[in-house]
Amino acid sequence: MVKKDAVVSLSYTLKNDTGQELDKSTPDKPFTYLHGNKQIVPGLENALEGLAVGDKKQVTVAPAEGYGEFSAELKKEVERSNFPKDAKIQAGMQFSTEVNGNHQVFTVTDIAGDKVKVDGNHPLAGQTLHFDVEVVEIRDATAEELQHGHVHGPGGHDHH
Ligand code: ZN
Repeated sequence: MVKKDAVVSLSYTLKNDTGQELDKSTPDKPFTYLHGNKQIVPGLENALEGLAVGDKKQVTVAPAEGYGEFSAELKKEVERSNFPKDAKIQAGMQFSTEVNGNHQVFTVTDIAGDKVKVDGNHPLAGQTLHFDVEVVEIRDATAEELQHGHVHGPGGHDHH
């Protein structure tokens, strides 16, 4: 059963409100994560709780339970001098910083003179997410995986 600290493998398709496919896993390469460790959006994680191998479910996730509402406040213009002197700042570059005590990832969208435009919205912010999921495998996490808070091995994280 899908429960906290179980390693869960999913086959899924993610679509937006207009039915456009945004992401999917393939049957030979399922998506694997550690349940109950905030590795996937909360709306999907909650909906999967208690499912068994072979269970299929359609899950609709509102932005607040997904990648967040789109926030104009997270689009900012900052001084180049806020970045380390030797940092090569270019569009598409990502960095993280603390905003109101929360860890927030920003993407550089434009550079004009000594001003840098950044956007802290997730690319899927403001979107209602439609997941079509099937649970393909469930196993217990190892002690090491629990300590790290993520999955090792196939579909997971590689340590070298
Ligand atoms: Zn690890």
